[in-house]
Amino acid sequence: EVITVQELANRMAERGADVIKSLMRMGVMATINQTIDADTAELVVAEFGHRMRRVSESDVEVGLKGDQDIDEDLIARAPVVTVMGHVDHGKTSLLDALRSTDVASREAGGITQHIGAYQVQLGSGGKITFIDTPGHAAFTEMRARGANVTDVVVLVVAADDGIMPQTIEAIHHAKAAQVPIIVAINKCDLPDANPDRVRQELLQHELVVEEMGGDVLAVEVSAKTRQGLDKIEEAILLQAEILELRANPNRAAEGVVIEAKLERGRGSVATVLVQRGTLRVGDIFVAGAEWGRVRALVNDRGASTDTAGPAEPIEVLGLNGTPMAGDEFAVVETEARAREITEFRQRKKREAVAAAGSRGTLEQMFTRIQAGEAKELPIVIKGDVQGSIEAISGALERLTSANTEVKVRVLHSSVGAINESDVTLANASKAMIFGFNVRANPQAREMAKRDGIEIRYYSVIYDVIDDVRAALTGMLSPIL
Ligand code: GDP
Repeated sequence: EVITVQELANRMAERGADVIKSLMRMGVMATINQTIDADTAELVVAEFGHRMRRVSESDVEVGLKGDQDIDEDLIARAPVVTVMGHVDHGKTSLLDALRSTDVASREAGGITQHIGAYQVQLGSGGKITFIDTPGHAAFTEMRARGANVTDVVVLVVAADDGIMPQTIEAIHHAKAAQVPIIVAINKCDLPDANPDRVRQELLQHELVVEEMGGDVLAVEVSAKTRQGLDKIEEAILLQAEILELRANPNRAAEGVVIEAKLERGRGSVATVLVQRGTLRVGDIFVAGAEWGRVRALVNDRGASTDTAGPAEPIEVLGLNGTPMAGDEFAVVETEARAREITEFRQRKKREAVAAAGSRGTLEQMFTRIQAGEAKELPIVIKGDVQGSIEAISGALERLTSANTEVKVRVLHSSVGAINESDVTLANASKAMIFGFNVRANPQAREMAKRDGIEIRYYSVIYDVIDDVRAALTGMLSPIL
């Protein structure tokens, strides 16, 4: 044990909370005053893009790479969009329709390849990247792995059906990730389409559209007749402008794995989304606990290219193993370095599995609260009737104001059994799940066990409130 978390943060000129977060992603739970070993420190340092040298058995030196991109190196990049919404509201149809608005592939007459994401180039010159797997499950799983790739969520709501349970889930998942939402009111070609009703219903979920004096962009579209496709694209670009999305293309590439598989004749293939820098054929890279040398880059039109820049989804060939969706991807200088990092990560991964992770428990919550990293207690509430759920949420939110330090945040609440979607959401946001007169389904129970998410069951409202109050003061007794 060579250095405290605080000291390491100081030497890197990073915030302590960010260092703790980075440690947590590696499965290491540490407080700001705890010491960590040189191996762990080195990995943290690398994650921040700095370099470390072991000056003695008991000390390390951090060399700043000086690679926080400076303002003038940053140029505008395409927004990355995920489409969400209730089943059958037209997510897939809309993704297909939007894909065919790409002018570049029309010129090239290219064959579309489904690689997990695609980019469209608009007639206006703008570009938008779409994640090809619709729905909030993929979105939130990626987030649970520490990858925030989505800049904008397009929420698809069928105009003949209105807001449905999965629409509400999607809203909560997007809000928990603090990603802005644009609403696509789809199927406006149908005779019983009622876009006004959709706008009205959105109000109940705190999405106030522009027509009603709010700031949420909502566009009437039809994936079938292609009405409004240009409008939705304009809305996305407008939102992107507000977000000022920029990246430095002139540096070693970093990004996230969107999809990865083993293919006959091609070996391990990963689709990555470059987030900054430019990826080149021949680059040595690390992806999660795997590494490789870029043998070929194939874009979403099936064409081989030599480079891929920010917000460009690209298939990478040349991996030595198959990483996981959501894994971080980064180019490194040497093969030796790549081996070192992946060996370390594989060891950490085994250790983390052995330690049977525990992310969303109250104890972990308190470690983070003490470290100043968590200012809120995020929870997911499921119950048997709407009335009791509302009573619980209301009471918990009142606890919030009584305690100015730590707040309760209800990420999602709805009627029904605790399902997989609840667990992924809790995992991504390090939240706990409360079941009021409902249980978890077997799949959700299994997932929660695997991910170390705490599920608490209650049948008396006062018990919930008492436990949370106790939790806020750090005095909760463990579950029996
Ligand atoms: P997903 O489950 O959200 O991905 O929905 P799909 O894209 O599979 O669409 C569900 C059904 O709605 C399919 O039968 C589509 O053909 C139909 N659909 C999708 N968009 C539209 C639309 O704009 N208008 C009409 N009339 N039908 C649509």
